[in-house]
Amino acid sequence: MQRLLKGLINFKTELAPSMRPLFKDLGAGQAPELLMITCSDSRVVPHLLTSEEPGDVFVVRSVGNIIAPAGKSGFSVGDVSEASAIEYGLEVLGIRDIAVCGHSNCGAMKAIVDGREKLSALAPNLVAWLEHGEAARTRLSVSDFIDPSLPEVDRLSQANVLQQLDHVASYLPVAKRRGEVRLHALWFDIGKTMVSLFEAERGRFVALDEAEIARLLAPK
Ligand SMILES: [Zn+2]
Repeated sequence: MQRLLKGLINFKTELAPSMRPLFKDLGAGQAPELLMITCSDSRVVPHLLTSEEPGDVFVVRSVGNIIAPAGKSGFSVGDVSEASAIEYGLEVLGIRDIAVCGHSNCGAMKAIVDGREKLSALAPNLVAWLEHGEAARTRLSVSDFIDPSLPEVDRLSQANVLQQLDHVASYLPVAKRRGEVRLHALWFDIGKTMVSLFEAERGRFVALDEAEIARLLAPK
């Protein structure tokens, strides 16, 4: 609690003065352009990765950056909170870019690799939740493009990003805008402080260093 209160005081005295004009504008409403779905992991900070300011990114965080897919009814088979964020982001805020960002050394992916049922007694909700990541195992087994030099947990994490994007695409607000909504697969290597992007035309995750970003930004 002490740390929380000290942080709040620091925000009020050190950060808030320079941010007051921005927050004054944001007080009237938000118009983010990106919906980012990422893991609850404390080491992944979406705004840091994208150098964005408050108001720029609509964020959903979940254990394992997992999005439970939509069922035939259109409702989530696992978590209507996530589904609500997708509906609100697209239908109300008008967002057209959605990124799922996974990361290295992910505890959720490790639990799947180790066998999530081992956690049944301690964390039954977690075990049930991770079921929505199991399809990534199958995906990994047929994804020979994923860097074999990575640890198994990280390879599963990359396959999981692609799997969760498929789950995102199962929701009607996304499905009915096929071609209009852009889906992005990101992966953050924490130890290397490097973000990679899955480039469909190259069929693999590519590290976003300065040269690669310049290539992506260059006029086609
Ligand atoms: Zn994680």
